[in-house]
Parts: sequence; C-alpha cells; structure tokens
Amino acid sequence: MELNQISNHCFMIKGNVNIGYAVKNGAGLLIDTGLDKSSAKKIIKLLKQHNLPLDYCIVTHGHVDHYGGAAFLQREKEITLYASKLESAIIQNPILEPIYLWNGAWPIKELRNKFLEGEAAEVSEVLMEGAQEIGPFTLQVLSLPGHSYAQLGILMDNILFAADAYFGVQILKKHKVPFIVDANATIDSLEMINKLSCHGSVPGHGDFETEFHQTVQENIRCHKEIKAYLLSEIKASNNGISMDALLQMMFSHYALTPANIGSWLLYRTSFTAYISALIEEGGITISIDYNKLWLKCV
Ligand SMILES: [Zn+2]
Repeated sequence: MELNQISNHCFMIKGNVNIGYAVKNGAGLLIDTGLDKSSAKKIIKLLKQHNLPLDYCIVTHGHVDHYGGAAFLQREKEITLYASKLESAIIQNPILEPIYLWNGAWPIKELRNKFLEGEAAEVSEVLMEGAQEIGPFTLQVLSLPGHSYAQLGILMDNILFAADAYFGVQILKKHKVPFIVDANATIDSLEMINKLSCHGSVPGHGDFETEFHQTVQENIRCHKEIKAYLLSEIKASNNGISMDALLQMMFSHYALTPANIGSWLLYRTSFTAYISALIEEGGITISIDYNKLWLKCV
C-alpha cells in the first residue's frame, strides 16, 4: 500500500480498490475503506507511517470492497462515517446485498461470504448531494447512481473521486459486462462526469488520470453497446424471447465465465438493469408467456 499525492490536499492509495485520502489543517478524511479489517489495518499503518491524521470517512456506496473496512476503522479510531441515505441501509445491514442478489429471498449460505456481505458499520451522518463541509474540508458531493442505487462521487481540491461510476479501460475489458443496477442512470452519471473539467479523476478500480474523459467515453460506449446487443437479439426473435434464454445468450455472446454463484448473480443484475432500460424506453414489452417472463419488440 502506497500513498500517492495527486493534488495539494488529496492523495490516492492505489490497490484492487482505490482509496482516497485528504489532509487539511491537521484533519484527515478517507474516501472508502477497502474490503475488510485487513485493508483497514493497512490504511491505519500507512497513515501512521506518514504521521497523518484520520478523523472522517466517506463511503461512496454500499459494496463490500468500499465499506468492508469501516467497522474496524470505527473501533480503532473515533471516525465520523458518512454515506448516502440509501447506501447507509446496506452498510448498516450488509445482508441486504445477498438478499437483493437472491431475488429478495433469504440468501443461500454460498452468498453469505466476505465479498458480498461485509461487517456492518454505523453511518454517523447522511451525506447529501451538493456543496458540503466536513471539518476543514469543502467538497462537492455528486450524485452518481447507476452502478449502485445512490452512489456518491466527491469533488475536492479539483480532484474527482468517482467511485465505481466508471472503470479503468483494462478493468472494463476484463469484466465485459460491468456491474450496474440502472443502465440509463449509469449512462447519465457518466455523461455528467464527462462534462467535468477538473485536474484529474480517481475511479474505484483503475488508474488516476488527468485525461480521464476518454476512459469515461469508453465506459459510455460499453453500456450503449450492451443495450444495443440485447435489443438486437430481441428484435431477431420472431415471437419474442424469455428473459432466461436472453440472459444465457448474453453469457455466450460476451464469453462470460462466472467463477461462482455470486458472480453469476451479479451479471444477472446488470442484465436485468439493461432490460429495465429497454422496457422503460418503450422499445420492448414484457409479459408472462408460457409461464416465463417474455420480452418482445413493440
Ligand atoms: Zn461498487
């Protein structure tokens, strides 16, 4: 773990998941916590090595790799924890992710693992969109929904901490179908970031870039391409197609190889999000045919 300075006050701790940090007037603010107790321990050790403070922590969204270390940080340090209202529900009740992935039913044991269900943390304050002050820090809180329900981005000292609103190009190529819960909100959030002119941007996964717009555009292209592909398959089927059959086609088309049930379910959630967008836009209809959810072109 290394601390890289990216502006006057802002730093980035690069890893599988990037963590943001800012220091001003003797106070320290962390953006996300990493996956678990072990990542939280490393953060504390790193800040101690550099003699840097830790007082506040913003969790951008309720995915374990972003909030999982928060409970340990709260036990070790007296930090004030911030998150959006809806994501707080998950951070405080981590079983909600296995629940929503398992269609709302009580989840099977296989889903109750450290990648889908982190240790619960208590959110101290709900963070709202807009200009906010946390201790000595002045920040612009951006609403970046799409990848999760109420994800927040943080603009501070001319640096954007974009969370998982976009992925680095290599990560995007690896995932092929990125995790989202709302396709059009994802694209709208990306369009908004694309209009920002700040010094640089840190995605949750990928590299810090000053020229980040090309990466953001690559993400927009990726989502639009998946939506267009799914629509083309529905158009190509004369009597429509079941949700299950189309999902299977998506797995084959993108050569997706989920390593476990959790990973398969994450892909299914993204698939459902693209289908929702196509239905809401009026391009396709959904009905129950042959006791299956059935998609047809209008
Ligand atoms: Zn995420």
